[in-house]
Amino acid sequence: MRLILFGPPGAGKGTQANNIADKYATAHISTGDMLRAAVKNGTELGELAKSYMDKGELVPDSVVIGIIKDRIKESDAQKGFMLDGFPRTVGQAEALTQMLESEGVSIDAVVSIEVVDSEIIDRILERQKIEGREDDTEEVVKNRLKVYRDQTEPLKSYYDNQGVLKEVDGMGSIEEVFGRIDKVLQGI
Ligand code: AMP
Repeated sequence: MRLILFGPPGAGKGTQANNIADKYATAHISTGDMLRAAVKNGTELGELAKSYMDKGELVPDSVVIGIIKDRIKESDAQKGFMLDGFPRTVGQAEALTQMLESEGVSIDAVVSIEVVDSEIIDRILERQKIEGREDDTEEVVKNRLKVYRDQTEPLKSYYDNQGVLKEVDGMGSIEEVFGRIDKVLQGI
């Protein structure tokens, strides 16, 4: 199963990705986690990424596409994977389609977790208290949301045109939302 988990910041992608990875034993690939690890390790890539992440802007396509290209070649991703936080632009989606086409495979489903803006801000500010992520301040969150609506949400029609978009209501408890996602995954 090759899956993309899609949704605004704070929709619960990370939490639901862990639930999916546990149940379906699939490789969980999060560009946000990989970039945060690079920042923590103080690599050149990390330094570059941090300047964008701190402002809630997207890291350039060429950088994240390179990361994903290497990552999906790894052995644990051969049978399938779940992408969390990638693609985020049409350029990234097109690059992904090409990468997969050259291997003769494609995306089975794009699960889009739908949450309204007012709920997102509340959830992220709550997460900030627990996890202390530097890009979870109110100002940066608002920018991340704007970037999502402007640059990432248009991807829904890209995948809808390919017939793989599955929208899931992201309101309610973690268990309720996972139940809805699970139902979608059982059907693909
Ligand atoms: P996330 O944990 O997915 O919310 O990502 C945190 C931050 O990492 C984002 O606000 C971006 O600055 C950067 N980032 C993660 N994934 C991508 C991506 N696919 N394209 C560009 N920037 C990304």
